Parts: sequence; structure tokens; C-alpha cells
Amino acid sequence: MTISRTVCLQDGTQLPALGQGTWGIGDDPTKRVSEIETLRRGVELGMSVIDSAEMYGDGNAESLVAEAIHDCREQVFLISKVLPHHASGDRLLQSVEQSLQRLNTDYLDLYLLHWRGCTPLQKTIEGLEQLRQGGMIRRWGVSNLDVDDMNDLLSCQSAKNCQVNQILYHLASRGSELVLQPYLNQHQILMMSYSPLAQAGRLQNQLLASDVLRQIADRHDADPFQIMLAWCIRSGQVLAIPKASSVAHVDRNAKAVRIELGQDELSLLDQVFPAPEYKVPLDII
Ligand code: NDP
Repeated sequence: MTISRTVCLQDGTQLPALGQGTWGIGDDPTKRVSEIETLRRGVELGMSVIDSAEMYGDGNAESLVAEAIHDCREQVFLISKVLPHHASGDRLLQSVEQSLQRLNTDYLDLYLLHWRGCTPLQKTIEGLEQLRQGGMIRRWGVSNLDVDDMNDLLSCQSAKNCQVNQILYHLASRGSELVLQPYLNQHQILMMSYSPLAQAGRLQNQLLASDVLRQIADRHDADPFQIMLAWCIRSGQVLAIPKASSVAHVDRNAKAVRIELGQDELSLLDQVFPAPEYKVPLDII
């Protein structure tokens, strides 16, 4: 089985609606083999978008990704992120060079500003555009930018080349649906949903305790995690990047693309996990 459901970037590139996250991967040597095997299995299954960041394990995640994709780099759509205080001038160049070295590649498919810091957005865009023109990155985008930040961004020169905004989005965090998601669609900026499984912990447990979620999962012969993913990518305009560290998990995640939730099921989920009625600040981890 390979993933058939796709989303489209503004430059026309088609990507699978499910990719793979790497936060927390590469830190524990006893899990290394399994984590590498998992990422490789995900790529085999078509989850070929791999999201990493210089921040993750201070580069450990990128090094592990390099090992996982050493013989299939061209099949992978590789993303990394730059920390905001590194996001201009020579420091930006140094960051991308280090990421490329750790990832053992000579280009990134997408490079994201991890979140907005004190560096002026225009300076960051200038740096990203230089990297793009020099071929070290094919595209750039942002992460964790709410509508006001997006407005600031889009008022900068060359901002039209922003391809992606990667934001927190899952069944229990729907604030972006009101204003930010329509805004991104209007500007043809693809939304990537991070933490689509609500990470591990309290919020995920709250979701898993839901009878409605469990009943819908049963109807699809699926589990609640798969329903959370199917829900995230239901519009055809969102790419979700769940993180898994076992082959069993990535196998199950890949199957979520086959699940089409009916209108009645979406309405039930709306009742239990409603989107807010008024604009709320973007949730951030
Ligand atoms: P997720 O919402 O993807 O949840 C990951 C957790 O879910 C892990 O504990 C994982 O367990 C578990 N899991 C995965 N698949 C299954 C399954 N089929 N059944 C049961 N449990 C499962 O959390 P993340 O926060 O990691 O988000 C995903 C990615 O998004 C990150 O890895 C990162 O790449 C990106 N991200 C970006 C941010 C940003 O600021 N731009 C912020 C946060 C995340 P296990 O590991 O044992 O498989």
C-alpha cells in the first residue's frame, strides 16, 4: 500500500497528505535501530515528507534522518527548521550548512522559520531567498505564525514565495479553523499540522477517553489515532506529520489515509470537540 491522497503546494508540487515528524527521535541510542526502521518503513509506505529541525536533540534528529534515508534521499521531501535567533545573515547560512551536513544532503526541499522571534521578518526572508536562489533550499516557509504575524510577513518583499505555515492542529486544538486556515488557503500557503495526535500525555489521553471517537474508530475497523489523522487531513488542504517510533505505529498511521469520515461522523466529532466560536490565539507547543 502507498499513500494516494495528496495536497498541493503553490508551486504545483504534489505531496502525500501524511508525512513523518522527528521531534524526540535520535536522542536514545537504544531506540536508534527502531527509529531508523520506522522512518524507512514510512517512506516505503509513501509518507515521504520528513519534518526535522536544527533544534530537535541539538541536531540528533537530523543525523538519524540522514542514516534512515541514505539510499533514498531523492524519494524524500526533506524539511528542516531554523531557530528564530539564527534566522538572518551569516548565522542563517551557518545553520543551513550544519543542517545539510547532519542530513548528509546538499539541499532541503523546504526550510521553515521555526517560530517568530526578534529577527525582522524582512531580514529572514532576504536570507531564505538567497539560500533558495543558491540552491541550498528549494523552498521556504514559516511555522507557528498566527494571522497578525502572517499579515506582517506578507507585507514584506518576496513574501509571496512562502509556501507553508506549519502549525499545531489536532482534534482538541481547532482555533486555527476560524481565521488562519481560510487565510492560508486564500494565499495558497499550505498548512501543515504538527502534533496531529496531540502528542503523548494529558490531552491525548482526553481524546482517547472519548466514546464518540472510539465508536467512529470501531465503525472503520480502525483505532482512535487513525481517526485523529483522518480527521486532520479531511479537507484535502492539510498535510499532517505524526511522529512514530515503531513500525507498528507507522503502519497504522499510513492506513489513516484510506479513512473517509462521513458528514454524520464529522458532526458528532464537532459536538464533542467543537472549534471555538471566536478567534483565539494560535496554540503553540
Ligand atoms: P504527535 O502528535 O505526532 O504524537 C506523537 C506521539 O504519538 C508519540 O508518543 C507516538 O508514540 C504516538 N503515536 C504515533 N503513532 C501512533 C499510533 N499509531 N498509535 C499510538 N500512538 C502513536 O506529536 P509530535 O509533537 O511529535 O508532532 C509531530 C511532529 O510535528 C514532530 O515530531 C515534529 O516533527 C513536528 N512539530 C513541529 C513543531 C513546530 O513548532 N513546528 C512543534 C511540535 C511538533 P511513539 O513515538 O511511541 O510511536
